Amino acid sequence: RARKRFGQNFLHDAGVIHRILRAIHPREGERLVEIGPGQGALTAGLLGSGAQLDVIELDQDLIPLLKLKFGLEPRFSLHQGDALKFDFAQLSSEPHSLRVVGNLPYNISTPLIFHLLDHAHLIRDMHFMLQKEVVERLAAGPGSGDWGRLSIMVQYHCRVEHLFNVGPGAFNPPPKVDSAIVRLVPHDVLPHPAKDHRLLERVVREAFNQRRKTLRNTLKQLLDAGAIEAAGVDGSLRPEQLDLAAFVRLADQLAGQTSAD
Ligand code: SAM
Repeated sequence: RARKRFGQNFLHDAGVIHRILRAIHPREGERLVEIGPGQGALTAGLLGSGAQLDVIELDQDLIPLLKLKFGLEPRFSLHQGDALKFDFAQLSSEPHSLRVVGNLPYNISTPLIFHLLDHAHLIRDMHFMLQKEVVERLAAGPGSGDWGRLSIMVQYHCRVEHLFNVGPGAFNPPPKVDSAIVRLVPHDVLPHPAKDHRLLERVVREAFNQRRKTLRNTLKQLLDAGAIEAAGVDGSLRPEQLDLAAFVRLADQLAGQTSAD
């Protein structure tokens, strides 16, 4: 009875559930947020820790079951709605206080991670079950074919740890892809702060739009050869050869031009 359009693959492997809970290691008094609790496979263990738990579930049909299972628990709050539109700032204003977890619906995982990055200052850490391929992109470094917009923008804000892989058999129904658990920890202090992170997004998007072309080519609408050189970047390279710090230098060149205009 799982619904495909909500990306529902429910966890049923007790060993995997236990391993995820051990990786999260929730404690009494913490503020946990679970995205897509489904039938509550992870929810029970999260609440059992004594933490305060807010869950966000889109599928109305699951709400009665979640209320029945956890509704009497005073540390439990249920929000029916779309996590992509959820305002996480309503849960806390204290920096790095929220711990976000979820076995995410794979069809929305990338936009959801970008949405959460907007609230990165409120988040202490995130633990997600994702498609393994997405975790590999999140954790990739320069020089790899997985290094791209997702890796760079996530690593701008967070430290990334690929914790372990989970096979399709742990879910009901089994997904067609392999899965993995990832931990994202927002930096207290950004290691490579950009003058304007929207310009970083722009440079990265332009550069990777055509990942086989040289930076000189793909960035010519934004930065001339002199500006690329001033950033200390070799314009004959392709985007996957550049590290985060180099992309930030390019974005800062663009910021300098924009403010001089
Ligand atoms: N956590 C449960 C488990 O591990 O068994 C369910 C995981 S299932 C992969 C994803 C869950 O996210 C489903 O319960 C689905 O209804 C819910 N969901 C899908 N889209 C959502 C959205 N935009 N916002 C919040 N929840 C969503």
